[in-house]
Amino acid sequence: MSYQSWMNAHNKKHSLILKKLFLLSDNEIIEYFKYENMKINEPDFCPLYAKNIKCHEMGNLNCYLCACPHFRFRDDVGFKEIDGKKLLSFCNINSKNGFIFKTKEAIHQDCSNCLIPHKKQYIVKVFDKDWNQVMKDVGRNGEKV
Ligand code: SF4
Repeated sequence: MSYQSWMNAHNKKHSLILKKLFLLSDNEIIEYFKYENMKINEPDFCPLYAKNIKCHEMGNLNCYLCACPHFRFRDDVGFKEIDGKKLLSFCNINSKNGFIFKTKEAIHQDCSNCLIPHKKQYIVKVFDKDWNQVMKDVGRNGEKV
């Protein structure tokens, strides 16, 4: 699945839930997206819920963003070539907890050690009911490549 297809599919699921929560305050919406609540009330939102596992082993994991607004990707053509591999994604703030992983043809950002978008404090800072709006720069050209 390309980055863009994942974004499109995720945005659909996210906006359907938001429609349902239209009477809630911003804070109540963010609380609703707590991993423990989502697992019970929105079992189809994430394939990990059925397996009872988290993408990051942390307390108070919040699924509101799931993806990170600092992530940058460019499907297919990539940003540039490094050692014959296409750079398809990177972290725009160069998080100290971010890594890369390489396939035969490409280099990808590895966020598995970074908790930024899963913490309530950060979600409150960037909150918008329109998930696409929060993620508006993710699929654009990054500034710091
Ligand atoms: S933040 Fe993690 S557990 Fe929550 S929906 Fe995204 S991948 Fe699933």
